[in-house]
Amino acid sequence: MAIDFELDDTVATVRDFVHAFADQTLRPLAREADEKGKLPAGVIKQLGQLAGNRATIMAEERVQTSEDKKPIGAMVGVVGSEELAWGDPAVLLNIPGPGLAAPSITAAGTPEQKKRFLADIFNVESEEPRFGALAVTEPQAGSDVSNVQTTAVRDGDEWVLNGTKVYCTNGARADIVVVNATLDKSLGRAGQKFFVIEKGAPGFKIGKIEKKMGIRASETAEFALDDCRVPLDNILGGVDALEAAREGSGFKGTMKTFDSSRPSVAAMALGIGRAAYEYARDWAASELPMSSNFTRRNAITSKLGTMKRELDSARGLIWRAAWMADNKIPNSKEASMSKAYAPQAALRCCIGAIQIMGPEGYSKEHLVEKWFRDIKVYDIFEGTGQIQRVIISRAILGRLDK
Ligand SMILES: Cc1cc2nc3c(=O)[nH]c(=O)nc-3n(C[C@H](O)[C@H](O)[C@H](O)COP(=O)(O)OP(=O)(O)OC[C@H]3O[C@@H](n4cnc5c(N)ncnc54)[C@H](O)[C@@H]3O)c2cc1C
Repeated sequence: MAIDFELDDTVATVRDFVHAFADQTLRPLAREADEKGKLPAGVIKQLGQLAGNRATIMAEERVQTSEDKKPIGAMVGVVGSEELAWGDPAVLLNIPGPGLAAPSITAAGTPEQKKRFLADIFNVESEEPRFGALAVTEPQAGSDVSNVQTTAVRDGDEWVLNGTKVYCTNGARADIVVVNATLDKSLGRAGQKFFVIEKGAPGFKIGKIEKKMGIRASETAEFALDDCRVPLDNILGGVDALEAAREGSGFKGTMKTFDSSRPSVAAMALGIGRAAYEYARDWAASELPMSSNFTRRNAITSKLGTMKRELDSARGLIWRAAWMADNKIPNSKEASMSKAYAPQAALRCCIGAIQIMGPEGYSKEHLVEKWFRDIKVYDIFEGTGQIQRVIISRAILGRLDK
């Protein structure tokens, strides 16, 4: 197979468009959003409208290049995610849209559910900002997804869900939250399926909103499902999913979601690392000519070289995982490799940027200290770095499904 490092024209157009949006709209909001821990409602609405325009332009671009029918959805996702996070990782999570609900609905939903929960709710014409969320983590289950305690029991034409979900991004404001719950504990992890909970569902009780070290302007919520009732066809995959769970494919559905979301989350980490690298590079370019200290100059240029090398390596892993997804090649191992590497490489870049700038890097005069606080969570959510390494080693040993 030919190796081509050129981006498809459509993907390159999207990248340039999203970069301009990130530069002109997201980056200027970064500091104030971090200090206040949120964005004004009016700004969120504006972001929604701009994102709507972005979606329209992306759709038009795809139509123009649809002749070769080349699938590019995953590549668009990772390239766009890198640029948005370069703008600002917390403001990005305030852009209205389905968020992490999308991969689970796309992977596990029926065509009718994809239309109902994605196309209809997240219609570009919609006036009010709408959000989607994915809630997998529970007090006793995050890394160990198989230990999910939330239950779903059928009662006539409804499912009744009970359990607690924690650390859910946009969980309190979401119009739809996708949760995984077990239909039958005797089936173990195979008995889990995804359910869509719509805003206002009886028994959906919002708990505390987390106060965090980084991505402070992003909402992270806890909620309880207390006899929470949802319609029968809100089980992703349809009612037949119960049969799929008996056959053992329920848990695989949860994992498939991560195969598509992990490269995008890795790409966001890459965007933060690149922001820190470019900031320190530009700072050094203006400061270094004034320094006659050769050792210092050498140390800084060498560090910048290492940062750039690590970022390019991360991008290679991310693009490979996305390319495999677009070409329908199983990519669990490669998705985990990108997620294991990019956040840690980006963390090293953020530390390196502070180091290069010295006290100025530690000061709130510059965004580098903020990116350092923001990046750490990318090595925690969507599966920690340790868990990615467990997945990779199991795959290498041929025990991925065990
Ligand atoms: C800001 C933020 C936003 C989040 N958003 C979401 C969201 O939208 N939806 C959602 O579902 N979750 C979300 N999460 C939760 C996140 O995905 C989990 O916290 C994460 O997966 C870790 O799971 P855990 O909390 O169970 O931690 P634990 O599993 O208890 O991990 C604690 C430590 O133990 C290590 N560890 C655990 N098991 C192993 C093992 N087998 N081998 C080696 N090391 C191990 C971990 O790597 C980690 O270092 C969010 C978290 C944060 C902080």
